[in-house]
Amino acid sequence: MSPIDEEQMQGLKGLRDFLRVRTSYDVLPLSFRLIVLDNDLLIRKSLNILIQNGIVSAPLWDSHHSRFAGLLTATDYINLIQYYCQFPEHIDDVDKFRLSSLRDIEKAIGVLPLETVSVHPSRPLYEACSRMLKSRARRIPLVDIDDETGRETVVSVITQYRILKFIAVNTEQHTMLLKKTVREIGLGTYKNLATAKMSDSVLEVINLMVVHNISAVPIVDKNNVVLNVFEAVDVIPCIKGGVYDELKSNVGEALARRPEDFQGIYTCQEDDRLDSIFTTLRQSRVHRLVVIDDNWHLRGIISLSDILKYVLFYGDEGEQLPAS
Ligand code: ADP
Repeated sequence: MSPIDEEQMQGLKGLRDFLRVRTSYDVLPLSFRLIVLDNDLLIRKSLNILIQNGIVSAPLWDSHHSRFAGLLTATDYINLIQYYCQFPEHIDDVDKFRLSSLRDIEKAIGVLPLETVSVHPSRPLYEACSRMLKSRARRIPLVDIDDETGRETVVSVITQYRILKFIAVNTEQHTMLLKKTVREIGLGTYKNLATAKMSDSVLEVINLMVVHNISAVPIVDKNNVVLNVFEAVDVIPCIKGGVYDELKSNVGEALARRPEDFQGIYTCQEDDRLDSIFTTLRQSRVHRLVVIDDNWHLRGIISLSDILKYVLFYGDEGEQLPAS
């Protein structure tokens, strides 16, 4: 092993040891709010609540059985849109759907229900990460049992973004050892990239996300120069108020509806080292990195799950992920 390989493995080992001694509780801020939605709420109303509170997901609560009932995410709205496209004759019903109907919508459009994985907040963070990666979830609810009632309580939800931020902020002594480049470690996806043009309709981009099972599509011009990225959460403002016609509008118009505090997209190059990616994660609100060349041509995409997978499993034969 070359010295740079050794250092890389030492850095990864440091990160894995860190994730094994820290718990999901450690990731939570001292004080935080948690918005939980009742499963009986109308889907239409849930959208407004998410928008008004500036959030993109929320745990659901089944008040009939006092039970955690899964997570509401942008994917659920995308499923609803798929339903609307497949059964346009039911458009009048769409407004009457409650959050509890989401599972029926999944069945009607033939998507497999997402496995509702959760984790106890005092389990090692490593376990929360590997559960998320194995189930392809981007966020995981922390579910505890109330001592007095013996019932489930949702403590919070942690995302891959939060975990990577936590790693980046607290383990600089390990991440600084990760000197191999994106190209050397093959981080991200470079083949069969799903892309769209500014003039494509929102519906077309949603279809791409569903078919490829991805949460973002780079928007490029005719020369493959990256102009922007359309994210699953960008769908939410498009269907605000139940105006499904806006889905026929094009990507450019939809991106103009982003909140004013939208932070922009993040890019990197194939020669960038993993330590510099951790510096970006430490300093900014990164949800994925678009890999470009010197002239902004699209080369690839690095998702947070790609980074987390590398950190957890690279070179660790015993803990490989099952093929997805
Ligand atoms: P995450 O799971 O972190 O939210 P994605 O769902 O966007 O990320 O990505 C899942 C996998 O698909 C990753 O391996 C990522 O590299 C790849 N991927 C992401 N976006 C695209 C795209 N537009 N085209 C092809 N592959 C993609």
